[in-house]
Amino acid sequence: MNIILLGPPGAGKGTQAKVLAQRLNFPHISTGDLLRQNVSAGTELGKKAKDFMNKGMLVPDELVNQMLVERFKVPGCENGFILDGYPRNLSQAKALDAILKDRRTGIGLVVYLDASDSVIIQRISGRLVCSACGESFHITNMPPKIPMVCDKCKGKLYQRSDDTADTVKQRLAVYKNEVSSLIDYYQSGGILNRVSADGEAEEVLNTIVKMVQDLRRQKTAAG
Ligand SMILES: [Zn+2]
Repeated sequence: MNIILLGPPGAGKGTQAKVLAQRLNFPHISTGDLLRQNVSAGTELGKKAKDFMNKGMLVPDELVNQMLVERFKVPGCENGFILDGYPRNLSQAKALDAILKDRRTGIGLVVYLDASDSVIIQRISGRLVCSACGESFHITNMPPKIPMVCDKCKGKLYQRSDDTADTVKQRLAVYKNEVSSLIDYYQSGGILNRVSADGEAEEVLNTIVKMVQDLRRQKTAAG
């Protein structure tokens, strides 16, 4: 079963995708990672992408789509995968459907991690990042043992300048505007499921795992 995770910044999408992939034993395909891997490995697609990045331009959808085509060919995707960071808009969603159709498969489930604005703002505006190793902490939710010092490497922690309540509100508005067409698209396809992401990460994960198991059971029962 191929699964897409959607959700606003601060809903915990990246973490959920990673842990869910481990739990289901599916590959976790993050288009951000895929892009970085292609660039660092110096693949043809990576080189083309790098040209755009060097010019400060967005990497075109077509290149990302081709990276996905290559990624799906890697053994391990047969039983399903977790897609994270893609699609971001309707044209990408349609391109993805076409790619999967060529592989005689499709998306079985789209999970929208629905977190309330106040929870997202609290999470992001309290985020602390290590300047040395990049590890994340949170002022109240996951405080470092020593204030503003990284538990892992003793590096200095800092707050990103765009992690303030005001910028988070703006980012949320932009995201909601972008994602609404995707939500409509997958809802009309009957595969969209909203999961509240306000609770603990473990609780959210268990809800998604149960949803996947129920869907699999229904599919098996339907033959
Ligand atoms: Zn550190």
